[in-house]
Amino acid sequence: KEIVVSGIRPTGYLHLGNYFGAIRNYIRMQEDFNCYFFVADWHSLTTHPDPKDLPGNVMRVLAENIASGLDPEKVSLYVQSDIPEISELYLLMNMLAYVGELEKVPTFKDKVRLQPQNVNAGLLTYPVLMSVDILIQRAVKVPVGKDQGQHLEMARNFAQRFNHRYGDLFPEPEAFNYGDGLVRIPSLDGEGKMSKSENEMATLYLADDDDKIIKKIAKAKTDTGTGVPGSPMPESVRNLLDLMKLVCALDLAPFYEDTWNTNGSIRFGDMKKQLGEDMVKFIAPIRERAKELQRDTDYLKKIMKSGAEKARANAAQTLQQAKKLIGINYY
Ligand code: ATP
Repeated sequence: KEIVVSGIRPTGYLHLGNYFGAIRNYIRMQEDFNCYFFVADWHSLTTHPDPKDLPGNVMRVLAENIASGLDPEKVSLYVQSDIPEISELYLLMNMLAYVGELEKVPTFKDKVRLQPQNVNAGLLTYPVLMSVDILIQRAVKVPVGKDQGQHLEMARNFAQRFNHRYGDLFPEPEAFNYGDGLVRIPSLDGEGKMSKSENEMATLYLADDDDKIIKKIAKAKTDTGTGVPGSPMPESVRNLLDLMKLVCALDLAPFYEDTWNTNGSIRFGDMKKQLGEDMVKFIAPIRERAKELQRDTDYLKKIMKSGAEKARANAAQTLQQAKKLIGINYY
């Protein structure tokens, strides 16, 4: 079976973007691939989370993945810091990563702009660590959202560079999504993507209660129609229709699309009511199951431990081969 790796940072509550960009693919892939899915706790340290929040955040990401349908019997579900081999390969791979190329990464440039007071070296070398997460398991497919496309390209570059210099070891991983292309779930305020650490009212979390879901959708940005038939649909309206396509049981998006084309407007109240109800039906079962799982920390710890055992065994083999190829081979 082909090897698959993907990770989610424990930086807050998981949201619809994480679900449709990543977790939905994990669930589908668990049947056909050899899957390694992890909680990227080291990656979350770039923003210096409060130490007392970290364990709870890690447990919640595990619980929300399982509640969404991930089966820990079928995949290896682990926490990044339980695999020390990753840190060793990261050190080795840093020697092949050039400061110039890392400084050019758009997500790094964003961070320099947005958090100038904390441009730490971990942020700069983030793509190296992410590449190692993938390469150490010798993965060929990586289910991620659109925001990660560029990082994946870097993972391929590092794999090539290593193979070229020291000999063939790493397959070149590709971003993967069922359906057409990588998914990007937009924020409800029409600005950027949904994300754990951005505008709370514009992000639908898997932990949101019913009232909150309905309220957030009711407040979602929609440009009022021009009333001119055939006028182009504003992005904010398109975004809501896209969400309808993902969560509504009935395929109502074409109806609203027709309405827009004929009238140059839509009855947003009706549309949002429908979307709100269907969103509640979608999120509520995941939320309730995740709550139950979070109460059973012994179970979650057992999952983490057995996931890490399998992931470590595979990672240790890769690391050993990498060291040998580099020449760290003295005994
Ligand atoms: P943060 O707010 O801390 O940056 P995040 O919400 O962007 O976090 P990550 O932990 O960086 O989430 O990413 C986990 C996975 O979810 C990745 O595969 C990423 O591509 C995917 N993802 C995150 N946001 C979206 C989104 N809005 N649409 C589609 N996929 C997304």
